[in-house]
Order: sequence, then structure tokens, then C-alpha cells
Amino acid sequence: MLGTTSSPDSCAVDSLAHGVGGILADLRTNVSACRLCPRMAPFKKVAPDDSQTLSTGYMLVANAPDKRGRLFHGPAGQALRAALRAVEDPRYRELEDLFFMTAAARCSPRQKNDKRKLRPPTVAECRNCRPYLHLEMRALHPRLILAVGAQAAGATLDEPVRVEEVHGQRHRIREGQVLTLLSPAPSNRASMKRLGITPETYSRWLTGLFGTLIDELR
Ligand code: SF4
Repeated sequence: MLGTTSSPDSCAVDSLAHGVGGILADLRTNVSACRLCPRMAPFKKVAPDDSQTLSTGYMLVANAPDKRGRLFHGPAGQALRAALRAVEDPRYRELEDLFFMTAAARCSPRQKNDKRKLRPPTVAECRNCRPYLHLEMRALHPRLILAVGAQAAGATLDEPVRVEEVHGQRHRIREGQVLTLLSPAPSNRASMKRLGITPETYSRWLTGLFGTLIDELR
């Protein structure tokens, strides 16, 4: 187990000596102690969620957790959850049933002048946090990684991206295959319009994607 002074990089090196369960446990400990990004204070971390699955091989990457440390419970998450429920497969009603969920930044990013309000994580924060994501990807060997949002896509691909330009594209990286997606939050309506889609057509497309992912598990 690593101490509070360990960096995300040293966590990666040491933890690969363990099995997946040990890696994830070590990672939680190190994330919990991490204070690398000062603007992330008060350092509300991604809450451990043992209900999510490791068995399907699908990983879902968010930009960052909400103020309670939850992933995909905001407007984008609700759109994703509705699209999955529309598949109507009783085994996969929730994102947690189908995906191992994680984030580009493990802390909930607050606005400087009003800590009650969220902001997107910065490029530097996602870069600081990327070794944790990288470690998960290497440990889990996901069959497909869905990166939802600009920061999630950039951290997963390890390069800055304009998510509108990579929306719907598949990328081969060392850890597996990545599908980069625009966040389906209703606030992204202008980006959707530029891509020639609407929230409704995007939702139907996501339902088709989730249905295909489920079919591939049979
Ligand atoms: S965002 Fe990641 S690297 Fe930054 S303080 Fe939080 S856990 Fe550490």
C-alpha cells in the first residue's frame, strides 16, 4: 500500500504487481490521499461503487464526478441512462450493470468563487489524474472504452481533442479500443446541431449502440 506522498505514476508502477482487485484497492487508497491539484479542494473524490460491473469488459469514462462524488448522475448521465433503459434488457437496466465507470479527473471540480458550483476539470488536472485512468485501463483490459465528453476523450487518448471532431470515432490505443462521444447533455444542443444530430436522434443512436454492446456479450 502506498503512502500519502506517492504520485499517480508511482502508484501505477507498484500496483501492477497485484491482481485487478488489489490494483483497484490500491488505486482507491492513493486517489483518496491525492492532493495534487490545488484547485480541486475540498477534494471530493469519486465515490467507490461496488455495484458496477467488471465482467462485461466495457468501461465508461466521464469528465469528473459531481459534488457527491457520483458519476453520470447529471444531465448527460440521465440521457445515457434513459438510452440504456430503452434497450429494455432486464439484465442491463443501469449503467452500473453494463460498465465499469471511471473519470478523467477523480475530484469534483468546484468554481473558484463559489464552491457549490461545478466547472469542467482543466487540462492540467486531467493530465495529473491520467495515471490513475491509465492504470485502470491497463488492469482491466477493456474490450471497449467509451469516453464521454471532451476531457474524458482527451485523457483517454492522452492528447487534447475537440470532441465535436472526434464524436463517434473509434481509436486504437495501447490499452484497447476507444469510442469518443460528445456528452449528450441537453446543454450541448449547439454542438449536436453542428454535427447534424438532435438530442432525440442522439438518444436513439445511443440506444442502438448499447443494444449492440449487449448483443456482443451473448
Ligand atoms: S483530480 Fe486526480 S490528480 Fe488531481 S487531486 Fe484529484 S485525484 Fe489527485
